[in-house]
Formats: sequence, C-alpha cells, structure tokens
Amino acid sequence: MKIKLILFLLFFSFLSFGAKPIKVMLLTGQTDKYHNWPVTSSQLKAILDHQEIFKTDVVLFPATGEALDQFLPDFSRYKVVVLDLNIPEWPEKVKTAFEKYVQNGGGVVVVHEANNACPNWKAYNLMTGLGGWGGRNEKSGSYCYWKDGQYVTDNSPGPGGAHGQRIPFVINVRDSEHPITKGLPKKWLHQNDELYGNLRGPAQNIHILATAFSTKETGGTGKEEPVLFTITYGKGRIYHCVLGHTGTDFSDSVQDVGFQVTFSRGTEWAATGNVKQNLPTEFPTETTVLLHNLSKLK
Ligand code: ZN
Repeated sequence: MKIKLILFLLFFSFLSFGAKPIKVMLLTGQTDKYHNWPVTSSQLKAILDHQEIFKTDVVLFPATGEALDQFLPDFSRYKVVVLDLNIPEWPEKVKTAFEKYVQNGGGVVVVHEANNACPNWKAYNLMTGLGGWGGRNEKSGSYCYWKDGQYVTDNSPGPGGAHGQRIPFVINVRDSEHPITKGLPKKWLHQNDELYGNLRGPAQNIHILATAFSTKETGGTGKEEPVLFTITYGKGRIYHCVLGHTGTDFSDSVQDVGFQVTFSRGTEWAATGNVKQNLPTEFPTETTVLLHNLSKLK
C-alpha cells in the first residue's frame, strides 16, 4: 500500500456560490473513553470551514456531572446538525426539540460513535437507522449488510456492534447516482479506521451508498458492511457516516480525502438535498490512500 500526502492547496477546489452559507451545528463535547471529541470536532469543523459554503458553530453538550437544565440548543437556527458525541441519554426537552427539528425537515449527520448513543431512544434509532453497543441486540432491530449485490436484513439474535483491527480497507460504492457519491470512484482505499460491523437497528427508510468488506482474518465479521448510508425521518434527511474513528492519539481516518469529501458532501446533502461541491482534483484509488493533513487548516 502506498500513502500519498499532499497539501490542501493542491486538490480542494470547491465552488463559492456567493449565496448564504449553510448553517451547521456541530454538536459535540461528551463521548466515551474510546473517542476523543476535542480532536474529532476540531477536524470536522476544519473540513467544513475549509469550504465557503458552510458556517459551522460548535455546540458543547454539558460534560458529565454538569447541570443540564439550562441546556437547550436552538436547532431551528441550523440547516443541519452534525452529531459528534456518544451520550447515553439526552434530557427530555432536548430530545423533544431535536425530534421536532428533524420531523420538520432539519438535516442530520451521524459520525461514527454517535451511532453507539441512546440505545433506548426510539426516534434517535429511527434517525440513525443502525447502531452498535449500548446493550443493542435483536430487540433493537435487524442486522443489515450487503450480500449478492443487494442489501439484506437478518433478524437472527445476537449483540449489535463489532469491529476488528484498525486497518486500511476498500470502500465499495453501491450507488453512484446519489448526489453524495456521484462522480466518485467505485472503489477507494480508506485510511486506517475501525470498520464497524454487525450494527443493528430499525433500518427504516435506509439507503446504502457504500459498503466495505470486514475480513475475519483481521478480527472482522466476514460481511460486506454498510459504511455510508442515508435515512429519512419525517421531512428530515440523515447522512450516516460509520467511518471516522478518532482516539486520543489517532486521527488518521479523518485525514483521509475520501472521508473528508464524503463527509462534506453528505453534510450539504442533509442540509439541502443537493450537492454542489466540485470534486477534488485528486482522490484515493483502490490501492493508494490519499491524506489531507488537517493541521494545515488551523
Ligand atoms: Zn471508534
């Protein structure tokens, strides 16, 4: 495997529309011991802010032990909310406001461990479509994966959520006509990441954009797992990006150009239903990872 590192000036060429920027709320500030929200959120914000079409506000969920009674983000001011957090439970009034926001057409982007959150919140699981851990099992919904050229569901009993070693893996695009994936190569090599597998959930109104094969030899599930997909909930559009593990000393996955391009396109699609961003001039190939060092954006 070759890894190519280039500077952002060489390959990002996005349109400036001269229109009002898309307002993005990046909701972060609390996660589990495996994930590092200060790293993730700064990098997700850098990816979006690098393009002139977004204006991103970071909203911090109160830390564990802090009072929650004053916490009620005004979702209605935003076209899309990016979920970069793993909270076991949200306050009731915040849950209600968020459900109303999405029902009325608000966009949502689910990043990696956000699908571990809130196993008992029905609407959240309908929005995320699939989730892992948090005690999820057959009561949470089906397993979903790609088999023989199509998406299948499997109601067999068992836990929800697994991943093998953190390694590079090939992303297989399954719908090249969707605005998020249109024009991208059919396959590209994604930098070291956790490939979530055996996710399960209601999986209603779900549309698979891309999958990746989780090899048993590296501790995976032996299945072609969904990694990029969309869901609708009420009038709201949700883009679910299973990729993007970021630990305390690790952020390779979000340095990947394939991650960055699909994340920013998915955020635009969730907000507007369209994607007007130009494709980058360079993109990873099936055998070559392409990294974009976000520290250059700070
Ligand atoms: Zn992770």
